[in-house]
Amino acid sequence: MKKIGVLALQGAFNEHIEIIKSLGHEGIEIRKTEQLNNLDGIILPGGESTVMGKLLDDFQIKETLINKINNGLPVWGTCAGMILLAKDIDGDENAHLKVMDIKVKRNAYGSQLDSFVTNEVIEEISEKKIPMVFIRAPYIVDIDEKVDLLHKVDGNIVAVRQGNMLATSFHPELTNDTTFHEYFI
Ligand code: GLN
Repeated sequence: MKKIGVLALQGAFNEHIEIIKSLGHEGIEIRKTEQLNNLDGIILPGGESTVMGKLLDDFQIKETLINKINNGLPVWGTCAGMILLAKDIDGDENAHLKVMDIKVKRNAYGSQLDSFVTNEVIEEISEKKIPMVFIRAPYIVDIDEKVDLLHKVDGNIVAVRQGNMLATSFHPELTNDTTFHEYFI
């Protein structure tokens, strides 16, 4: 049984915890630095990255989280969580954790395509199609050569991996398909 933390300052953390538990693992809501000890992995959920970034500062867990990730703690950012991980945010001088060598564009699909769902195969993850839910989603506009590209939708990068770090534009926790969580765990 693995101990997986989910950053629970804001956003869709409950849904991740439910899936982790349904797979027989321990899912822990993270709000304090001490809770970052002895985790096998941590998920940064979707929500509002500006709010979560500010709360990471207010709750004083940002530095510890950065250190843990840099020391190899497996991390997966979904949607706003991906924005938190990025070293660069398009059109914004500030970024948050700045651990992943990716440049993201927030709300990249614009208001016309606010939310959508598509079913596609990501070879690295599984042979079967995975439902991908996009909600005011970012996509990745640039990646360093250290970053592995896992998937594109309509030519835009929506899933990447860099060592212990995984990032997706979409929300596997809002579907009843647990494939992506199984891969991360
Ligand atoms: N639009 C949000 C942001 O920029 C992300 C949306 C999401 O996590 N579903 O932070």
